[in-house]
Amino acid sequence: MNVTHLECALCGLKHEARRLLNLCTACGKPLLVRYDLDRAKVTLTKESLAARRSDMWRYREVLPVDAEDNVVSFGEGWTPLLPARKLGKKVGIHELYIKDEGQNPTQSFKARGMAAAVSMAKELGATKLAVPSAGNAAGALAAYAARAGLQSFIFMPRDTPRANVVECEQTGAHVTLMDGLITDCGAEVGRRKEAEGWFDVSTLKEPYRVEGKKTLGYELAEQMKWELPDVIIYPTGGGTGLIGMWKAFDEMEQMGWIGSRRPRMVTVQAAGCAPIVRAFEDGQRFADEFPNAATTASGLRVPKAIGDFLILDALRHSGGTAVAVTDEELIKATREIGATEGIFCAPEGAACLPALRKLMKTGEVKHGERVVLFNTGSGVKYMESFS
Ligand SMILES: *Cc1c(COP(=O)(O)O)cnc(C)c1O
Repeated sequence: MNVTHLECALCGLKHEARRLLNLCTACGKPLLVRYDLDRAKVTLTKESLAARRSDMWRYREVLPVDAEDNVVSFGEGWTPLLPARKLGKKVGIHELYIKDEGQNPTQSFKARGMAAAVSMAKELGATKLAVPSAGNAAGALAAYAARAGLQSFIFMPRDTPRANVVECEQTGAHVTLMDGLITDCGAEVGRRKEAEGWFDVSTLKEPYRVEGKKTLGYELAEQMKWELPDVIIYPTGGGTGLIGMWKAFDEMEQMGWIGSRRPRMVTVQAAGCAPIVRAFEDGQRFADEFPNAATTASGLRVPKAIGDFLILDALRHSGGTAVAVTDEELIKATREIGATEGIFCAPEGAACLPALRKLMKTGEVKHGERVVLFNTGSGVKYMESFS
């Protein structure tokens, strides 16, 4: 459609678009999709959106799939941006919102990324897709691959929430449970993929999951009537959602949809696995692997992220920050958000609340600001966390 090429996010090297590629062939960093936005904006106008489908494919001109037949979809995206008035009152924020990504197919925002990645894998001729996952990426891949008629090979830590394991098995994936962390699972995929003929759809190791996730940024702008919030608080593992939103804001500015003002982007991580928080505080552009990573918020148990520099760049350029919260705080917050607003958050999403309180205490977020918390998934998959 409007894709011109892929571009390395670090060294800028251009790559041909219509090929199955993983990382930059020169420096091994993530590839990003670039579009002819002047062409995209001819038909993709703010006014045109009113009549479009109510899922992420409403932004079709800035999504990479060429042939309509290759779009693999369960209706992901266009989730509600819920005003959280009672919670706002409790914490002292006048305009507080929760973007409820738990309402996506397969119950997390991983659906957006996998919808785009699986559609592209199908379009470009892959037949076997492999992923290391802390849980929700696996569930999403299994479902989208089944719908696309592709095979999926999934590697998860043995202590991944049981619901994630069961959903993958029941949607036809080949599931392997491993002793270790998501990074160990990733290494296993890396070792075997060539011999097995797998296409690796790990976070940011292919260019298209970010494209699905960037629709979060488009939606937020559209749902807020093109006035972005002052602060976005985002539970960060591999960082695709944050990186995707940041990319969406740039694209929208280039199309003349928004100005140059950006929300302050805030990363939340669990104290037991906070590589980005540590790197942010230490002034580093790349994050060291976090030793002995442990947290019940499985989506945040990512000790080393390949897109670390993209996350850290966005935090710094936006005037944002990075905050760690303990497992005790985020589990308590799940119940508080649930009892106050009726939203049963994933523990990752709930972590945004104690993070907001910390930022208010230090004066980094003020009462009159408009704040959006990202609930990235549903709490229903985390029974072990609440027992
Ligand atoms: C994967 C996941 C995250 C982290 O998302 P990234 O894009 O990897 O930063 C947060 N919350 C939930 C529920 C997840 O499944």
